[in-house]
Amino acid sequence: MSYAGPEFDPRPSPPSRRGRRALLAALVVALAAAGVAVQRVVSGDGDGSRAAASASPDSPATPGGSPEAPSKSPSTSGTSSPSAASTAKPPARSGPLKGKVVVIDPGHNTGNAAHTAEINRTVRIGNGAKECDTTGTATNAGYAEARFTLDVSRRLRALLEQQGATVKLTQDGDRPWGPCIDERARIGNEAEADAVVSVHADGSAAGARGFHVILPGPVTGGGADTRGIVAPSRELGERIAGNFVRATGSAPSDYVGDGTGLVTRKDLGGLNLSKVPKVFIECGNMRNSKDAALLTSGAWRQKAAQGISGGIVGFLRG
Ligand SMILES: [Zn+2]
Repeated sequence: MSYAGPEFDPRPSPPSRRGRRALLAALVVALAAAGVAVQRVVSGDGDGSRAAASASPDSPATPGGSPEAPSKSPSTSGTSSPSAASTAKPPARSGPLKGKVVVIDPGHNTGNAAHTAEINRTVRIGNGAKECDTTGTATNAGYAEARFTLDVSRRLRALLEQQGATVKLTQDGDRPWGPCIDERARIGNEAEADAVVSVHADGSAAGARGFHVILPGPVTGGGADTRGIVAPSRELGERIAGNFVRATGSAPSDYVGDGTGLVTRKDLGGLNLSKVPKVFIECGNMRNSKDAALLTSGAWRQKAAQGISGGIVGFLRG
């Protein structure tokens, strides 16, 4: 915006006779030089208008954004389409998370219920043994936790890829059951992931509400050694919890964690066997009617993914 407007130059004077003559001469020289030159000018104009169009204010914002503060606050996020936001942009090949590897572990599998023999066999989890996998919980109306976890995980993948991260899911609705919890951990280890998040929703008492992040405790033996990941996993979990509150407006669990939204456990194979920073998040309680209303909303699941993404981005950028 220039201040040298009409106030200062109310009537731009027309080109002088000398000026017009010079312009004409220049034009003649240009035309005489070569037809190619004219062609170049024409195509140049074309490129210019395309460039102007792509840089218009209507263009999507740069995917960078602020990693600590999710781009949409709970009070305004209802104004845009979450599905459009998650699918409009192709994965970026550059960004603040370029070179970072994130493994997302969608808890359970919608096929587990039909494969009880496979998922009921036990696997070693370092300090004991546990079922290979479980069916997960569901809302009273029958919305399965496994559907929830896969949907949030896919939204989360889109957000992280927009930041330039390399993202791998432990299952993408592409296998009949599982994987087993030890394999879920192994996928993160073999990817040498910078961060792993296992996405879940809880099945607690009907009166209990809120989300919580589960952190690995110190576990050694039986192929497990979490000592090196306890501290960074806590940092990852704290960042996710903080961003999750801001993105979703949800409160930390009122039934575990003493209001912190953080719980340390040593009985989860997916954490015990991890060699890389990893946390679980229980996004809400599917058995609570108010939480269930959120968990079954696509718009809310987008906010949940934004909260988790914000925490991961903050952790990885330090
Ligand atoms: Zn679960």
